[in-house]
Amino acid sequence: MAKKYNFYAGPAILPYEVMKKAQEELLDFNGIGLSIMEISHRSKDFEAVIGTAEAKIRSLLGVPDNYSVLFLQGGASLQFGMIPMNLLQGKKADYVNTGAWAKKAIKEAKLFGAVNVAGTSEDKNFNYIPEAKWSPDAVYAHVTSNETIGGIQYQTFPDAGNIPLLVDMSSDIFSRRIDVSKFGLIYAGAQKNMGPAGVTLVIMRNDLIEKCPDNVITMLSYKIHKAEKSLYNTPPCFAIYIVKLVLEWLEKNGGLAAMEATNNEKAKLLYDAIDNISLYKGTANVKDRSKMNVTFRLSSEELEEKFIKAATAQGLVGLKGHRSVGGCRASLYNAMSLEGVKILVDFMEKFAKENK
Ligand SMILES: *Cc1c(COP(=O)(O)O)cnc(C)c1O
Repeated sequence: MAKKYNFYAGPAILPYEVMKKAQEELLDFNGIGLSIMEISHRSKDFEAVIGTAEAKIRSLLGVPDNYSVLFLQGGASLQFGMIPMNLLQGKKADYVNTGAWAKKAIKEAKLFGAVNVAGTSEDKNFNYIPEAKWSPDAVYAHVTSNETIGGIQYQTFPDAGNIPLLVDMSSDIFSRRIDVSKFGLIYAGAQKNMGPAGVTLVIMRNDLIEKCPDNVITMLSYKIHKAEKSLYNTPPCFAIYIVKLVLEWLEKNGGLAAMEATNNEKAKLLYDAIDNISLYKGTANVKDRSKMNVTFRLSSEELEEKFIKAATAQGLVGLKGHRSVGGCRASLYNAMSLEGVKILVDFMEKFAKENK
């Protein structure tokens, strides 16, 4: 099998070492003679898995003690509704509209209260991060750390003062260092930069959990998930197990400071190529460019199609832009090596010479 370079946006690349370890342990986990997939979620072996995953999340991100770490299901998309269901309750919240994912979050929030769009970049087709004007009476403010489809990213997070800042970090969690204490709630679907689809990470300040009402259904209650330590019902055991392996890999490879440095280097390499080769044109405002999802266009859709096809033939897969915006997109999550990006850039140079 020829080596593939995986640039898919999600589900996305996982570290080779993680896949290898999962394969080795698949039939016999911890020497118990059974797979992690076929044992009770209340067994001590699985409890060690979820406990280790939580401990590593806490140490890698520096999660303060007054925050809970929850492993939920339903993807980030369920959080779009679960957050306002628990925290909005007919009141008002600020949302920054940065693109496709923010829009979906706004749509759900409107079912539970008043939504003030505190900033939007819709005027320029979401190619930049807008300034936000917070309302003093908002119960929370919501931003999308990285717009996976549009390719824009907060380089620094806004300050919402006393209003708890809630963030969708689905596509850039663990890609850089963050200060968790600046947020009321962080959520992320695993399948971009953390593991396989099926588990959603929620990191939430305990005072916000305590404020949640009791009249929400059990499976959508942060309170219950906290009280039951994410084991109210059967969690996505296998997905959590893979997340644990990814976290161990992150630790072994220098943690978030090292990821951040390499991610900066990878993004610079690719954006430099886009800026220096006239065939390619970046779509995002330079200072707001995403380091995870690099979006670019060629001069015509026909040429883009040819580019994607030729790249695929070279083992460079997943470069097609999201169906809603077209163009090309290269996702550079943690598991994508600098070498992989170099190979993409070499290909782009060669393709440009042949298609002048
Ligand atoms: C992928 C993605 C989502 C949706 O995640 P699901 O797990 O499919 O619900 C939400 N927000 C962002 C930023 C994403 O990248």
